[in-house]
Amino acid sequence: IFTRASRIADLEISEIVQLTEKAAALKAAGRDVVALSTGEPDFPTPDHIIEAAHRAALAGKTRYPATLGTPELRRAIADGNGVAPANVIVSTGAKQVLANAMLASLNEGDEVIMPAPFWTSYSDIVLMAGGRPVVIRCGQEAGFKLSPSQLEAAITPRTRWLMLNSPSNPSGAIYSAAEIRALAGVLARHPQVWILSDEIYDHLSYIPFTPFRQAAPELAERLLVVNGVSKAYSMTGWRIGWGIGPADLIQAMGAVQGQVTSGACSISQAAALAALTGDQALLDTRLQAMRARRDRVVAALNAIPGIRCPEPEGAFYVFPDITGAMKTGGFASDADLCAWLLEDAGVAIVPGRAFGLPGHARLSFAYGDADLDQGLSRIASAIRARM
Ligand code: PLP
Repeated sequence: IFTRASRIADLEISEIVQLTEKAAALKAAGRDVVALSTGEPDFPTPDHIIEAAHRAALAGKTRYPATLGTPELRRAIADGNGVAPANVIVSTGAKQVLANAMLASLNEGDEVIMPAPFWTSYSDIVLMAGGRPVVIRCGQEAGFKLSPSQLEAAITPRTRWLMLNSPSNPSGAIYSAAEIRALAGVLARHPQVWILSDEIYDHLSYIPFTPFRQAAPELAERLLVVNGVSKAYSMTGWRIGWGIGPADLIQAMGAVQGQVTSGACSISQAAALAALTGDQALLDTRLQAMRARRDRVVAALNAIPGIRCPEPEGAFYVFPDITGAMKTGGFASDADLCAWLLEDAGVAIVPGRAFGLPGHARLSFAYGDADLDQGLSRIASAIRARM
């Protein structure tokens, strides 16, 4: 009988992935299911990026790449961020950057502060690395954002990291420059706390976006910025993300990565280089398309009784409060309501508990209008019929 390591005793495949796979299985069994559960743009990877990958493969870029990333891609990322290549690590997705950072830095029981709602993997990655997630509820009334006093109260001598994600998955909240500076004021008093700023949705901002480093440059020596090509360039399957931080942290993350995956896929790195150095006009075109979808989805959800949907400032998710619908429908939890929607109405959305904030649900609007309209009208009729 196999016994799991205690570090991963409760680790499961992310609830987002589980739901999406369940929707796919129902579809394969002939059921008509609309999935609004996944965080990946429906747009294709642009042709010039695919062509660069093809050229790289034909040119023999098919061998083990350098562990921390190809010199060309590290240089391009460094130049774009005003740092040196020694401050950059390229990994197999932003997810591996997060895992590298936690494995490289946490001792058993070290604490990592994360405002909820947070992206599902944050707490699992911290647990897997032996750390302790310290979850702070940041509800809709607070714009889903952490306040300086909440941060101050959560910090202990064991705090190793604050994990921030702006624009946020799932809430879409963006921290303004003033809000970052206020948090930085607290962090200045606690030099043991490092900051992980996950900015993977920075190109998907409907209001001005401020990078953490720009708002609080004085904290650069304990700041890790995480980004990648998955969301901005529709490259989720290519698996390229990166971390930008102090060289000694980057080296430690490279030591971890070197024993897990070696360097990230050489061909994907050539593709990511083409994404960063090629035509950027598509970013704005796609942003405008996402903005139109956002407006459509927010309006449709707010017309459903028992659902209150704030307008997200970035990313491609809405995170409405569904407690009214739970009450009138007789559902004990957000997960029950979402399970019912999948079974009875054929729509997959993710319960807020997966993000540490129950009473909500996350819908992705990175889908075509036909799917969005179909999914939303099914949710509306199912909830109305149940009232
Ligand atoms: N960070 C956040 C907030 C995300 O939502 C995601 C993907 O869903 C990632 C990181 C991971 O992205 P990647 O595809 O680069 O691993």
